[in-house]
Amino acid sequence: MSEDKKEMVSKLTEEAIEETKYKAGLEAVKNIFWVIGEDPTREGLVDTPKRFVKALGEWFKGYKEDPKEILATSFSEVGGYDELVMLRKIPFESHCEHHITPIIGTATIAYLPDRGAVGVSKLARVLDCYAKRLQVQERLTAQIADAIEECVKPRGVAVIITATHQCMTTRGVHKAQSDMITSEMRGLFRSEASLRSEIMSLHLGG
Ligand SMILES: [Zn+2]
Repeated sequence: MSEDKKEMVSKLTEEAIEETKYKAGLEAVKNIFWVIGEDPTREGLVDTPKRFVKALGEWFKGYKEDPKEILATSFSEVGGYDELVMLRKIPFESHCEHHITPIIGTATIAYLPDRGAVGVSKLARVLDCYAKRLQVQERLTAQIADAIEECVKPRGVAVIITATHQCMTTRGVHKAQSDMITSEMRGLFRSEASLRSEIMSLHLGG
């Protein structure tokens, strides 16, 4: 088979897989209606499976993104700047992998540049890339730190996340006011206590 034919076949296969997944998604939502005691043919629910499957595509778009690609274009020219770079309290939404319920929170991502830097929006995109997957907060925090450590090679990375877990606030133990804080400190942020506490108070402060 010629190369362009091969490409055509693989594109068709890809489309067929997407179509199959889409239909499976619609069926899954209809099954949920049945499980909870709803009538899937009720007028208000007729288009809900379509809307829900579309929403899934948004909530879980992180599976189609590669954090290394996002961080690939680091720039080396930072004009000798080697102090703290921090993006504070970036809002994010994720989903708990145990209950598929929302995790809503903010993340502070900081690093101390060595020879390179990344555009500051890339930090927010890396957060979303991992948040838009099924997650536990501890792993989300560590994955962001890992990606920045590996791709930017800074002297230190700090990631702090504060989030509420709807699996705890709307069901289970019903602790509506509680939030969870996790942190990953690497390099200088780990070895220097003053840096650690500085970054933590900047994250927690108003
Ligand atoms: Zn949960």
